[in-house]
Amino acid sequence: MSKVVLVTGGSRGIGAATSIYLGKQGYSVCVNYRSNESEAIKVVTEIQQNGGSAIALQADVSQENEVNILFQKIDETLGKVTHLVNNAGILLPQMPVSEMTADRINKMLTTNVTSYFLCSREAIKRMVNGGSIVNVSSAAARLGSPHEYVDYAASKGAIDTLTKGLSFEVAGKNIRVNCVRPGFIYTEMHADGGEANRVERVKQQIPLQRGGSPEEVAAAIAFLLSNQASFVTGSFVDIAGGK
Ligand code: NDP
Repeated sequence: MSKVVLVTGGSRGIGAATSIYLGKQGYSVCVNYRSNESEAIKVVTEIQQNGGSAIALQADVSQENEVNILFQKIDETLGKVTHLVNNAGILLPQMPVSEMTADRINKMLTTNVTSYFLCSREAIKRMVNGGSIVNVSSAAARLGSPHEYVDYAASKGAIDTLTKGLSFEVAGKNIRVNCVRPGFIYTEMHADGGEANRVERVKQQIPLQRGGSPEEVAAAIAFLLSNQASFVTGSFVDIAGGK
């Protein structure tokens, strides 16, 4: 059976590395992006140059109508989704909760949480012969992120709870739902104008004394997504250098 995977936010960082990793493993990959078409096309080209199959599709996955259209386009091009990586996410500049507007909080929650619900819903409808979902959460879900990223940490905490609950809900349909919780990974997410010495501060707190690479996260996602993890559901893999 052909394996069709949607990677949300596949144009950069962890999503790009995961798309390329899965493309090399024989998945037909939909590389979703919000605004960065040229980066998404680079990812598709790299997959195709390695003999794989991929397309880039634009959609803001926090918007229900755009998610519905995204899945319809995948149906018409690659076929029905059999695997899903919920990865698209944002980190907004640090701010105390006492100063956060409702607009900021809603933007964080719709992008980081609502999108995971919407894409999971559409994927599950299509996974009539079973399937596999991996949600990208964060170490911040466990640690609470006390450095004025509390909205981000709360959004990731919701993803952990979504993972567990959904894994129970769909286990009877032979759909597995798992979660990775990366720690500090070198991507553009950290170019957000946050505290200047953040990288150094974070590194000092990591037992392995370094940040991780997107490829190190991609490898764990690929394992959980695959049949090698056929008895694994509702599980969490921390990819955080021991933190
Ligand atoms: P990047 O900022 O490098 O990339 C984010 C990706 O998400 C981009 O492809 C972007 O698309 C896409 N995206 C953002 N909003 C939307 C949206 N509304 N609809 C569709 N796509 C969207 O992030 P990372 O690779 O670092 O992060 C990926 C995931 O990993 C996130 O969920 C993040 O929270 C999580 N994570 C990251 C860590 C890190 O240290 N980097 C640590 C822990 C978790 P476009 O390029 O088109 O804007």
